[in-house]
Amino acid sequence: QRIGVLKETFPLEKRVATVPEVVEKLIKLGFGVCIEAGAGEAANCSDDAYRAAGAEVLPDAASVWAAADIIFKVRPPSREEVAQMREGQILIDFIWPAQNPGLMEQLAARKTTVLAIDCLPRTLSRAQKMDALTSMAGVSGYRAVVEAANAFGRYFNGQITAAGKVPPAKVFIAGAGVAGLAAIGTAANLGAVVRANDTRAEVADQVKSLGGEFVAVDYEEEGSGGGGYAKVMSEGFQAAQRKMYAEQAKEADIIITTALIPGKPAPKLITAEMVQSMKPGSVIVDMAAEQGGNCELTVPGQAVVRHGVTIIGYTDLASRLAKQSSTLYATNLLRLTEELCKAKDGVALVNMQDDAIRGLTVIKDGTVTWPAPPLPQA
Ligand code: NAD
Repeated sequence: QRIGVLKETFPLEKRVATVPEVVEKLIKLGFGVCIEAGAGEAANCSDDAYRAAGAEVLPDAASVWAAADIIFKVRPPSREEVAQMREGQILIDFIWPAQNPGLMEQLAARKTTVLAIDCLPRTLSRAQKMDALTSMAGVSGYRAVVEAANAFGRYFNGQITAAGKVPPAKVFIAGAGVAGLAAIGTAANLGAVVRANDTRAEVADQVKSLGGEFVAVDYEEEGSGGGGYAKVMSEGFQAAQRKMYAEQAKEADIIITTALIPGKPAPKLITAEMVQSMKPGSVIVDMAAEQGGNCELTVPGQAVVRHGVTIIGYTDLASRLAKQSSTLYATNLLRLTEELCKAKDGVALVNMQDDAIRGLTVIKDGTVTWPAPPLPQA
């Protein structure tokens, strides 16, 4: 079978679904690989590098859609892209079926098979090597700190210089999931004093091990909603949390927010009043911008200045580190391809008896198979 890789069509998207180092490994599994000319350019992967790795470079997207049995992409396909799919073709990329019912219908109508990388059962330890949500969140958390450092007018680390003593920057991280933990580690490595909060108290040790201090909300309530994910907290908890965040906002130079609750709008944690109380020159990076934002004043996709505070709401943080995110994503898809092709004979088998593959498969030969039944209790 042939694997086809397309140039992403979503505005500003710089990632690509495979990189030359991975192409070689896909070929070793027995697959042919074809790629649209220029697909990796924005991620520093040239057509020549893909050719040298053994891929065939095709002149346009239509040629790739026509030639490939399996399509690798990053962003969900556009209407125009789905219109080029044919019966039996396998598509592997981010789909977000809950948010994209129209897309699901269109894909099913073309009798395709679709593996949504965002539907991977993440709690299966066997699935971790394929977990692109985790890889992308890690890159985004790192990049959030880089964006904050770029907009901030001072050092992160404290210094004693001949020209005087420089205090370390104070960074507060709201939400210590995968992205938040990456941000904690990155900011601590740069020398900042890092504090973090999460509704799931179980993350406190991880925060500490990365060099941060966990700040708890003074209110007794369990924040785990099952499967390692958060739940919507009670009014009482939210009021206590706002009080604590208001105190942190006054002290912090930089706030990075990452709080999300599956299937719900992002919780509003940083009010306009808190922004106003921050020191001029402070920075907020709102990583939940695409889901409505954790800060009341965030403008998704933009950096704005409000009350002297720069509020960054970029929704393409992983894409801003395109080579790194593409390499990690490509490796996650390689691991998935290995699972689909255990015989290493260049043929992908979508085995619905396999828990990880079953979870990912949202459409099988034109039949919608999402949502997958819950996993047997581990
Ligand atoms: P996420 O992006 O859904 O949420 C980010 C963080 O925000 C979470 O830690 C959440 O608890 C926190 N949050 C939600 N509401 C909040 C509020 N009001 N105030 C403060 N914080 C709030 O989460 P994620 O990064 O995708 O990770 C979710 C969980 O999944 C984590 O426990 C992670 O360890 C787990 N996970 C497990 C595996 C695995 O088992 N292989 C893989 C990846 C992730």
